[in-house]
Amino acid sequence: MPHTGYDARGGDIPPERYAVVSCHVERPLDDAVWEAFRRFQAGRPGGFRIAALVRPPDTAAAAGEAGAARAAVWLERARFASEHGPFGLHTHFGGREHGRARPGDPEPADRVRAELATLAGHGLAPRFFCGGNWYLDERVAGVLAAAGLADCTATAFTPRHLPAGAVRLALATPAWLRIAAPGGAGPVPGVPGVPAPPARLLELPTTHSLGMTARAALSPAAPRTLHCYFHDTDLVVPSRARALAVALAVLGRRRRPLDLDELAGVMASTAPEVCFGG
Ligand SMILES: [Zn+2]
Repeated sequence: MPHTGYDARGGDIPPERYAVVSCHVERPLDDAVWEAFRRFQAGRPGGFRIAALVRPPDTAAAAGEAGAARAAVWLERARFASEHGPFGLHTHFGGREHGRARPGDPEPADRVRAELATLAGHGLAPRFFCGGNWYLDERVAGVLAAAGLADCTATAFTPRHLPAGAVRLALATPAWLRIAAPGGAGPVPGVPGVPAPPARLLELPTTHSLGMTARAALSPAAPRTLHCYFHDTDLVVPSRARALAVALAVLGRRRRPLDLDELAGVMASTAPEVCFGG
């Protein structure tokens, strides 16, 4: 079967070589950062519909009248991002400055459940998730599976800032993760001793940072599915913004640009099933 659409980009590109791009939208309430992200996402660099994985405002910081005004701005910007690409939730389990939970912070699964409920209350329906500082546990995975999201927290690389031994999910290629705690709820309520049936979470690992993407864009050795991520704050550092724009332009010519929704659609029927955590 001919693959229409490939010939225009170069007939030598194997059709199964995909690339997707997601952005951790960390500072949507910072006007300069937001404006840089808004323009970048709307411009579809390299032909990519960039997924916005957006961090909700801290509940504590959103209290009061000023907080309400900021919440309205956040909502308007989240809606814009969701209209220009796949939309996801990026949870910082320890608040704005802390991707991972610290002692005394809410239980991660409870935090995710609460943030999803808040987004739903505003009519926002995230399809994707990425845990702050690459944190995901099986209870969080259960909440995501129950809510029908796909996850992007697994990484194909070892994140630089994680201490040795920190909990993380290492995965190089998309997979269905079989999890034992659907909805994070544990056993079936009211049925002692009967575990809930296993649920599955579609995992679309993040495979390349900005720097790795720049190096991999030209490499035939890069994986079949390349998932590049960057931070919105990268876009206000001119050298990083330029490097990203160039890398995506090259990547978009060398691979088929998909968005996360399209990748999820492809992988839902073809990804293998593995147990959570290997
Ligand atoms: Zn973050």
